[in-house]
Amino acid sequence: MSAPLATIDHAALRHNLGVVRRLAPRSRVLAIVKADAYGHGIVSTARTLADADGYGVARLSEALALRGCGIRHRIVLLEGVTDAEQLRAAAEHNLDLVVHSFEQVTLLERGQRACEVWLKVDTGMNRLGFRSEELGAALERIARCSTVRSLRLMTHLAAAEEADRTSSVRQIETFQRLTAGLAFERSIANSAGLIRYPETRLDWVRPGLMLYGISPMGEDSARDLGLRPVMTLTAPLIAVRYVKAGETVGYGGIWRAEQDSRIGIAAIGYGDGYPRGMRSGAPVLVDGQPARIVGRVSMDTIAVDVTHVHGARVGSQVTLWGRGLPVERVAPFADTIAYELVCRVNERVTVARVDG
Ligand SMILES: *Cc1c(COP(=O)(O)O)cnc(C)c1O
Repeated sequence: MSAPLATIDHAALRHNLGVVRRLAPRSRVLAIVKADAYGHGIVSTARTLADADGYGVARLSEALALRGCGIRHRIVLLEGVTDAEQLRAAAEHNLDLVVHSFEQVTLLERGQRACEVWLKVDTGMNRLGFRSEELGAALERIARCSTVRSLRLMTHLAAAEEADRTSSVRQIETFQRLTAGLAFERSIANSAGLIRYPETRLDWVRPGLMLYGISPMGEDSARDLGLRPVMTLTAPLIAVRYVKAGETVGYGGIWRAEQDSRIGIAAIGYGDGYPRGMRSGAPVLVDGQPARIVGRVSMDTIAVDVTHVHGARVGSQVTLWGRGLPVERVAPFADTIAYELVCRVNERVTVARVDG
């Protein structure tokens, strides 16, 4: 292989769903597969997670991709619909809708066909959802909507992965207070909520990242939970060269060798979705041995200091993240989070699907 490869481990996907089930045995699981299943392939991920109780997606196009492949599970449009045409398509394909605004309530009131609704309550994220003082009015209008076949209540946590628990505790208490005494099914938990706040394991949990073997709280958390990374991103070395102390490597000459060095050039770059902002010093594995990237990331290549990597040669496999190198460890070197790294791997990268 002379091109980058994303190996997707479907046994790990099923294993991670098992971790979710053990943590939340009384909850149903809405497996979040938006953004092409966080870069893992939406249809094959959904098929592998067929034991989930439903799927969550962000866009109508994602839901239609699943329905188009014959997937019959519950599918929730996490941002709902924006116009009558989308509403018609959603109803026709039996999609659940999140309703987070009065504009969406108006669409429902004018709609023709029935659908299931998840009313989103804004408990402090201040992005989508009805504020506490609006909730009563929203519920009243929804209750009168003949097109609403069933209703659930949800909210989303803004900072569940943060060490400081104050805002999450406040959000959870607000949701409990606003929904106490209402007979509807309820949902709070994303991955971080599910892991860190047992009280969010209500009727439904909505894990995304952890299904892919990644913890929002970092690699120690992923290891403690027994999560297994699903995506392993690799690329071969296509050249190995020597540079003398004082010489620079790559565009802009931003990295200078402090000593005579051996540099491997790996066939992956920002054209594949490996961030250009990844800094010198970011970790990789070369044939399983730890090494670091040096210099600017190019469109098609990166440079790796292999001075101390025994046996590094053209054809050696460089692991950018995944098995043996948690993506949680790599992300800070690009000032980002693991979510973004796996999401942005693009179509130029060949995908290999394995099972165990
Ligand atoms: C993306 C998303 C999730 C999943 O979040 P993770 O942090 O990946 O577990 C859950 N709920 C909603 C509403 C989302 O948009």
